[in-house]
Amino acid sequence: MSESSFELEVLDVIEETGDARSVVLDPGEHREHFAYTPGQFLTVAVPSDRTGLVARSYSLSSTPVDDGPLTITVKRTPDGYASGWICSELRPGDRLRVLPPSGIFTPKDLDADLLLFAGGSGITPVMSIIRTSLARGSGRIVLFYANRDERSVIFGAALKELAAEHPDRLQVVHWLESVQGLPSQDQLRAFAAQYVERDAFVCGPAPFMAATVAALKELEFPRDRRHQEKFVSLGGNPFETAAEREPGADEDEPAAAPAGPSVHLQVELDGVDYEYDDWRPGTTLLEHLESKGVKAPYSCREGECSACAIRLLEGEVTMRANDVLEDEDLADGIRLGCQSEPASEKVRVTYS
Ligand SMILES: Cc1cc2nc3c(=O)[nH]c(=O)nc-3n(C[C@H](O)[C@H](O)[C@H](O)COP(=O)(O)OP(=O)(O)OC[C@H]3O[C@@H](n4cnc5c(N)ncnc54)[C@H](O)[C@@H]3O)c2cc1C
Repeated sequence: MSESSFELEVLDVIEETGDARSVVLDPGEHREHFAYTPGQFLTVAVPSDRTGLVARSYSLSSTPVDDGPLTITVKRTPDGYASGWICSELRPGDRLRVLPPSGIFTPKDLDADLLLFAGGSGITPVMSIIRTSLARGSGRIVLFYANRDERSVIFGAALKELAAEHPDRLQVVHWLESVQGLPSQDQLRAFAAQYVERDAFVCGPAPFMAATVAALKELEFPRDRRHQEKFVSLGGNPFETAAEREPGADEDEPAAAPAGPSVHLQVELDGVDYEYDDWRPGTTLLEHLESKGVKAPYSCREGECSACAIRLLEGEVTMRANDVLEDEDLADGIRLGCQSEPASEKVRVTYS
C-alpha cells in the first residue's frame, strides 16, 4: 500500500438528497498532508472482496478556509460499486484510506469574477470554490446549476443561505430539467454571453459539459479561462507503491531492459531544480521521478485526471494516453507526467 495514503476517520455521513451523501473526514495528525485548494479532490480506497480495493476520486465540497474537517460529496451512480458502497455502507467511526488532495480545477485568483456551471453532483467542487471565494475573495460569482428535478438539488439550502448573505456577490440560477428540459447549447450560450470576461468553471455529466464547453468556445472564451472537471471512474490502482508496480520488483521476474538511449532531463518542481541523465523511453516521467525519490504530483496514473500536468519547456515527449488535455492545451505545451515518455535527447519541464 502506498506510503503516501492515509487512514482517516469518518466523523459523519450526511444525507444531502435521496441519492447523495457527504462524508466528513478527520485529517487528524495528517493535516499537513491534506492542505487543499478549492476544487481539488481526494482519491479513496473502497474495499472490495473481488479486487481488494476500488480507487475512486471525489471532489471536496468543504472549504479550506475554516481549517475544519474534509468533506467529500458522493452521488450514487446507477449500478455503481464505490458510490453505492459509500452511500449505503459507510458509517461514522469507520476509517477510510485516502490519497492527499490533488487536481487543477481551482481558481488562480480568489478575487476574480467567476462564471460557474454545475450539473448534478458536479456541484461538489463548485461548492468549495463558492464557499472559499466568498470567504476569502472579493469577486462576483454567478452559478448556473442544472438538475433533474427539485429533489435532486444538492446543497440547495446552503446556496440559498449564501446568496442571501452575499446579495451583491453570489447569484444562483437553478435550471430544472423537469421544468425546462435539458439546457441546450444555445440556451447555455445566451446565459454565458452576459459574462464573457469571467473565468468559467464547468463540472457535470458528459453531455452537459460538452454543451457548455461548446457554448463557451462559440463565445471565444480563451482556454486559460475555461476550466473543466470530468467525473470518470479510475480503472487502475493509484494506492500501489512505485516499488509494487516495478516489473523487476518480483524476484522471480527479471527487470525489464532499458528501452532506448538515455535522455537528459531537467525538472522544476515546487521551486527545486532536478537534473538527470538516465531517463529512457519505456519509463514515464512520473515513474522516473519516483525512482529518484522525488514526490511528483499524480492521482489516477491513467491520463484521465490531469493532477500530474506539466509544461514542456524544451524537447519532446510522447504520451501513452490522454483523456483530458485538449488540442489547445497540447499546443500550449501541457502534458501529463504520468503518461509522458521522452522523445528527444533533452527534455526540460516544469510543474508550475
Ligand atoms: C477528479 C474527479 C472528481 C470526482 N468527484 C466526484 C464527486 O465529487 N462526486 C461524485 O459523486 N463523483 C465524483 N467523481 C466520480 C467518481 O469518481 C466515480 O466515477 C463515481 O462515483 C462512479 O463510481 P462507481 O464505482 O460508483 O461506479 P462505476 O465505476 O460505474 O462502478 C462500476 C465499476 O465497478 C466495478 N465493480 C463492480 N463491483 C465490483 C466489486 N465488487 N469489486 C470491484 N469492482 C467492482 C465494475 O467492474 C465496473 O467497472 C469524480 C471523478 C473524478 C475523476
